[in-house]
Amino acid sequence: MVNLLDFDVDGLTAWFARLGEKPFRARQVLRWMHRAGRDDFGQMTDVAKSLRAKLAEIAEIRGPRPIGDSVAADGTRKWLLDVGTDNAVEAVFIPEVSRGTLCISTQVGCALDCAFCSTGKQGFNRNLTTAEIIGQLWHANRALGAVKAPGMPDESERVISNVVLMGMGEPLANFDALVPALRLMLDDHGYGLSRRRVTVSTSGIVPAMDRLREAAPVALAVSLHAPGDALRDRLVPINRKYPLKDLMAACRRYLENSPRDFITFEYVMLEGVNDSDAHARALLNLVRDVPSKFNLIPFNPFPDSGFRRSRPERLRRFQEILLEAGIVATVRKTRGDDIDAACGQLAGQVKDKSRRVMAMAQPMEAWQ
Ligand code: SAH
Ligand code: SF4
Repeated sequence: MVNLLDFDVDGLTAWFARLGEKPFRARQVLRWMHRAGRDDFGQMTDVAKSLRAKLAEIAEIRGPRPIGDSVAADGTRKWLLDVGTDNAVEAVFIPEVSRGTLCISTQVGCALDCAFCSTGKQGFNRNLTTAEIIGQLWHANRALGAVKAPGMPDESERVISNVVLMGMGEPLANFDALVPALRLMLDDHGYGLSRRRVTVSTSGIVPAMDRLREAAPVALAVSLHAPGDALRDRLVPINRKYPLKDLMAACRRYLENSPRDFITFEYVMLEGVNDSDAHARALLNLVRDVPSKFNLIPFNPFPDSGFRRSRPERLRRFQEILLEAGIVATVRKTRGDDIDAACGQLAGQVKDKSRRVMAMAQPMEAWQ
């Protein structure tokens, strides 16, 4: 069985062509799948009956199976989604006054092993497929009642207005599955989100940043966490391969084709490690040629992490130094504490990993 959630518009059009079907048929089916959230070919009333019957025989529309669904007092909602062989990933919906953000995962675990990240500490199991990545958005839309029957006006408000790829895994280490999923998010026959409202967060895989700029230039967030190579080598080991000089150059190249005119730098605040005034001033120097915004993330502790969250006064002072230099710096808000959902360090389930640490006691940090 072919899972049609694995295809973006071009992919499905090509697959339909092999069946002898016209491109507009592929677009029709895509709209039923993604806009109307259907998984039953029988309901696709404007698609020829014979095609519907053929599709039902050889294809399926199969999203990840929800095995957990919790809602926090503040409306934050988290799904645990089964992706087979005892693995599960998490997706989190964060409702705000003027937008709704879905945080989705791209891998089961992560191989990059950043020192302060519980996902990294779980080790790496496998990449998610395109169907499993887009399936999180597909499922959340259905669960939130946000699907639209074909023919409904596009202007109707979107419940999920923003998508951030900040859940489990390193999106750019799963490039080939990521790109079709991003294209579906942007395509009018898919979810029709603007490029500004889809954000890929990366720990800095430089060649993949260049490829993303060409293949699907969405908004970019870069996990910086240190102003110098010595410290970043320790906190974000991929820095040993792609040091800060190369990373900053890649950020500048990305901006040439970015939907936003700045890079968002994420910076997790670790007490006594990267949170001094000197670190803040070194950051100003590091990013002087890169239009940027900072998102300061209070560290979410987990057992045996070896790190502590910076104190509020320290965080404020650090933020002030950036602000005084004219750099927009926000502090990521805590959301959904009561359902243990931390976007960026979600627990999920990773099978057969001896280093697994279940991070089920994490506060939720909402994307700002
Ligand atoms: N792999 C990608 C995206 C997922 S992580 C990346 O690293 O950017 C999303 C964000 O959560 C990253 O900025 C990451 O550094 C941050 N993060 C990871 N562990 C964290 C923790 N324990 N507390 C706070 N933020 C954390
Ligand atoms: Fe992977 Fe991102 Fe965690 Fe680093 S912070 S281990 S890149 S998920």
